Amino acid sequence: MVPVSLVKCTEYRNDLLEDAIGQSLANIGFPLASFENKNVALKPNFLMASAVEKAIITHPAFFRAVAKIVQDHGGRVVLVESPAVESVKRVMKKGEYGPIVEELDVMIPSNGRKGVIFNPDERKFKRFEVLGSALDADIIINLPKLKTHGLTAITCAAKNLFGLIPGLDKSQWHMKASGTVEFSEMILDLNEAILYGMKSQKPILHLVDGVVGQEGKGPGPSGTPRKIGAILAGTSPVATDFVAADLLGFDYRQIPSVAGGLERKLGVSSATEIECVGEDIDRMRLENFKPSKHSMSTATYDRWPFNRKGFRNLFTSKPVPQVEKCTLCYQCKAICPAGAIEKAEGSKKVPRYDYDKCIRCYCCMEICPEAAVDLKSGVLEWMMPGS
Ligand code: SF4
Ligand code: SF4
Repeated sequence: MVPVSLVKCTEYRNDLLEDAIGQSLANIGFPLASFENKNVALKPNFLMASAVEKAIITHPAFFRAVAKIVQDHGGRVVLVESPAVESVKRVMKKGEYGPIVEELDVMIPSNGRKGVIFNPDERKFKRFEVLGSALDADIIINLPKLKTHGLTAITCAAKNLFGLIPGLDKSQWHMKASGTVEFSEMILDLNEAILYGMKSQKPILHLVDGVVGQEGKGPGPSGTPRKIGAILAGTSPVATDFVAADLLGFDYRQIPSVAGGLERKLGVSSATEIECVGEDIDRMRLENFKPSKHSMSTATYDRWPFNRKGFRNLFTSKPVPQVEKCTLCYQCKAICPAGAIEKAEGSKKVPRYDYDKCIRCYCCMEICPEAAVDLKSGVLEWMMPGS
């Protein structure tokens, strides 16, 4: 059996978090003595500089509790993360990480150096350039924030490791692997490369900040914070995400990275092999958790033979910047992998979008600090299953 721990935690209080995370590690049988004299890379979700209460980034108290446990057991903590557009420093400042990093003397390596890992299996995407600092660590602890996601339905353990790809390189991957299914398959290729393709294999743990997550139009400023009250832990990203999806009330077959991960037996060979340890999930499962409606319909759309730009405009939602919220900061333009966004023309108050170029990755919506990018349904989108 592959254990995934589920522990209740309803507040970001240091004592509660340390107890719950300690319990989570015990539930999956991870010995704390393993941290002794090890460099332990903590990988939070630093999507963008944002206030803690928006539930976009891994909560600083959650990061602190994990770092404290590692240190108390003789490990050295390294913060490993590379936001797409902003600097780590800026995300830390707005996200209230500064005092924690200082208190615990957390190392923050520069993100300039890249390392290469190869997927040992015959996959479409075999070679990935990732942060060199992650490869240097003895142990990696992935600290995802549990949120909905416009492209991949949820973002949790498997998707958070995409942040190991440096800065705007992530954008290029959206071009190489566009669409929900192909992008999710690429995420699984990357996870395989991380698990099996490093020169020296190392333990990789997933500790999910699900105390407060996001529902609706996550994972950025357009998402709605939602109390989930849970911490999950696992050693398999697919098994961890399977339990996370179940907790939110989703059918795992609607999450391509979970369904695809089980199909390729990535760390877990079937759903029946996953054992939820700790709390009874039936008692904790959320009611009326709002999915990202868009992602549920595009998972099916991808498989249709007419995923071509002409049809894309008819069958998928398009991102539309809203005049009343847009500040013309152009972070959307900076992240757009398709070069589909240009500066506003003349007296116009929003950037110009070219929907024939747009690949519907929704990165612009995810990154817009003003939640100014809305979705407008395609005229025939109602025909798509899941719409
Ligand atoms: S849509 Fe958002 S990200 Fe783009 S320019 Fe306007 S405020 Fe900035
Ligand atoms: S316009 Fe937005 S959704 Fe379209 S490709 Fe660019 S970032 Fe992605």
